[in-house]
Amino acid sequence: MLIGGGPGDAQLLTLEALHWIRRADALVVDRLAPRQVLQWAPPGVECIDAGKDPSGRRADQGWINETMIALAARGKLVVRVKGGDPLVFGRGAEEAAALRAAGIPYRIVPGITAAVAAAAAAEIPLTDRRCAASVALVTGREDPAREATRIDDAALAGMDTVVVYMGVGALPSITARLLAAGKPSATPAAIVERTGLPGERIVRGTLETIAGQAEREGVGAPALLIVGEVVALAPEVPWRRRLPLGGATVLVTRAATQASGLVGPLRELGAAVVEAPTLAIEPIDTCGALDAAIDAIGTYAWLAFTSANGVEAVFGRLAARGLDARILAPVRIAAVGSATAEALAGRSIRADLVASPHTGEALAAAMIAAGDVRGRRVLLARADRATAALPEALRAAGATVDDAAVYRTARPAALDEAAAEALREGRVDWITFTSRSTVENLLALADRAWLTGGVRLASIGPVTSAALAEAGLTPAVEADPHTIDGLVRAIAAAWGGGHGA
Ligand code: SAH
Repeated sequence: MLIGGGPGDAQLLTLEALHWIRRADALVVDRLAPRQVLQWAPPGVECIDAGKDPSGRRADQGWINETMIALAARGKLVVRVKGGDPLVFGRGAEEAAALRAAGIPYRIVPGITAAVAAAAAAEIPLTDRRCAASVALVTGREDPAREATRIDDAALAGMDTVVVYMGVGALPSITARLLAAGKPSATPAAIVERTGLPGERIVRGTLETIAGQAEREGVGAPALLIVGEVVALAPEVPWRRRLPLGGATVLVTRAATQASGLVGPLRELGAAVVEAPTLAIEPIDTCGALDAAIDAIGTYAWLAFTSANGVEAVFGRLAARGLDARILAPVRIAAVGSATAEALAGRSIRADLVASPHTGEALAAAMIAAGDVRGRRVLLARADRATAALPEALRAAGATVDDAAVYRTARPAALDEAAAEALREGRVDWITFTSRSTVENLLALADRAWLTGGVRLASIGPVTSAALAEAGLTPAVEADPHTIDGLVRAIAAAWGGGHGA
């Protein structure tokens, strides 16, 4: 399967590409293709970086072909993810030929080519009824093995819109060739750098000025040059920059399984989001304490959940045992915080009690207020290292408490590579922290200097802010209310004031 993805933004995949990623046994991902496609692949999928060979050197086409063929020969469904479209400056045809020669069946799924993605980002129409009836896609770097150039400069200069791929390294000679071939020096031109990636940038000028501007502003690959009257049709401020978080790159430190609740709203407001999971949520599946409690569920007065993770872990365990929500009918259900209540609602359970603020003490107080717990049994479904405040308060009120550890949070071995790169290169404007452990773990996984430069820190509430303070860091904003929604709104308010357009 040769599929196109990105460019830059993994969300630009087609539904067909997504369908095959979800079924993949192995992914072979190009350097400029978005690695985030991994999130949709089945757990345990084999992921091969086609940018590097096993010795760490830049992989050559032969090695990539052999790798794909070897995997396919072992009966694996191999999904080759190429940046943009596989057949536009993508060597997709060469890979397909190698597969044909090896007798391996394949399909080709088109993707959004960089010219189209960059045009949308910069709001440059590639064609226009009034001034552009033709578009040329050209490479700024022809095959060095070929002696004479294939590009006919005069014909190219006659095209209304010219889009140059792989050209940032040679802008002065590319623009000089177009000028020499008769393209007017005042022709509007733009460079779209890193489209769909953190640090996306658009530089506008004319055919005469653009190479100098790009050099002064330090434009680097990947970038595209667009030349033509259509460039002048783009508004001064393109659409994304008009959104509340337009131009902002936000790093999300939540566990991958929880991140979507934060990533979605940030993206909707125009932010580029970089995911850097600092927590991995692992259900404890050999949970004898939970199994025993489920078997004796009728003996409990309450079952209390302190997080959505706890809800998911318990229901995961019920499902694994062939049970469902009906087993919980005899017991009253308590939850801390609206997210926990929503996770229960997702399982068609309306919590009898939802405590706020988000603390164990508040939950204990609410349960005690809702009916005496003296002499009654209470089951807690929590993380393995949860604080003692909740069970202590319940015991002090005379309850018998069973504290079942149903999930644990682990720190990943390393920070996501793309996230580390974005932090290192200073491309991140905001880092979000949604719990004390996101602070502690990011500090353990990242270089402290990455957190203290121009980047602004956003905290979900006082407990998280205290963890930052202990590390000598000060949040630029603290959410109020202390919810994901509050966090997104706090960042948008602060960004709009400073960097908006
Ligand atoms: N098959 C790809 C092109 C690969 S050639 C496609 O259809 O888009 C690589 C060139 O594509 C880069 O040199 C650059 O010019 C362009 N490109 C790829 N990703 C880009 C991005 N995120 N932003 C701007 N240009 C990009």
